[in-house]
Amino acid sequence: MIDLAAVREDTPGAAERVFLDSAGSSLPPRPVLDEVISHLRREAEIGGYVAARERADDLAAGYEVFARLMGAEADEVAFTDSATRSWLAAFDAVPLGRGDRVLVTEVEYGGNAIPILHRAREAGFEVVTIPSDSRGQVDVDALTGLLDERVKLVSLVHAPTNGGLVNPVREVAKAAHDVGALVLLDACQSLGQLPVRADELDVDIISATGRKWLRGPRGTGVLVVRRSARDRLRPRLVDLHSGEWTGPDEIELRTDARVYELWECSIADRLGLIAAARYALDLGIDEIAAEVRARAERLRAGLRELPGVEVRDLGVERSGIVTFTVEGHEAGAVREHLARHDVVATSSHLSSTRIDMTRRGLEGVVRMSPHYFVSPEQVDRAVEVVAELA
Ligand SMILES: *Cc1c(COP(=O)(O)O)cnc(C)c1O
Repeated sequence: MIDLAAVREDTPGAAERVFLDSAGSSLPPRPVLDEVISHLRREAEIGGYVAARERADDLAAGYEVFARLMGAEADEVAFTDSATRSWLAAFDAVPLGRGDRVLVTEVEYGGNAIPILHRAREAGFEVVTIPSDSRGQVDVDALTGLLDERVKLVSLVHAPTNGGLVNPVREVAKAAHDVGALVLLDACQSLGQLPVRADELDVDIISATGRKWLRGPRGTGVLVVRRSARDRLRPRLVDLHSGEWTGPDEIELRTDARVYELWECSIADRLGLIAAARYALDLGIDEIAAEVRARAERLRAGLRELPGVEVRDLGVERSGIVTFTVEGHEAGAVREHLARHDVVATSSHLSSTRIDMTRRGLEGVVRMSPHYFVSPEQVDRAVEVVAELA
């Protein structure tokens, strides 16, 4: 069990408002904030290089921390400045050409779809959408029908940005691996609220962000590239951290996942990100998942009672993302009404998940994403505020 009073004490912002946007940018707990601010202070005192050297052991330990969190080895972990940067670094390294196929799901994220389609135009590979089943998750039978030796990559979103769906990752990975395709898992909306372990899910690559459910600082991301995928990838965006300039015309690239990192980064944010992962591990991922599930189910149950409100979450297994529409009110207008009553929610629109939203005839949905630090009473309060509109 998570001690609600203690985690709320660590999250001063949670007392002043009903904060339901951990899927957007969560409230970092005090240890994360302290880590970032104290490092910025130290940089101002003695300079960024010396300040980083003072924390060299902690920075190195960060790879172990994320390896533990994500079921990987330390040399399979890389840090970046966003989930998209992680995703792009890996996607860019997958060799793709004419005759190849990339499979995406119906809940593919806009930030992945755009680079896939952009590169497809130049490289001439084909992009094929895997249908969803009647419950809204990726249809593994349909996927199996699409898989052959042309498929080089399956881009799988674990939990989409626009709803409570959780996709069946293991089943997809198993099918994809049977034809030798790589599986790139977008765990941006799952890391920090659900177990996301490379060893258990058996995916090749995982990208995720710091600022969402993990409660890290903005401008942070993580990438896991498993050893088994290493030799099949061709990292292209490299710098003097990714490799060594061994002779006037010779270089040697790193062989671990850090080949995907660039030399420069915000050390303060990196330390904050590591603190966020430690905080989550200390609470326990399974405990976090249970609390988030309970809050989300309470919220869905409350919303379902309201006339004119339709909960829009798909899938069998559900994440902490709760989406709904209110008859006669645009999603953005609902969000503003909520904001006027100190309820922080957001709205998700067609452009973020175009295939799914088009298929369901939705322009936008209101998105509420309660983390474990939101009290059950606050969840009920959010339902009351929606009720005023409905
Ligand atoms: C937010 C989000 C991203 C992008 O994360 P950034 O850190 O903003 O790059 C990717 N995929 C999904 C599903 C998301 O919700």
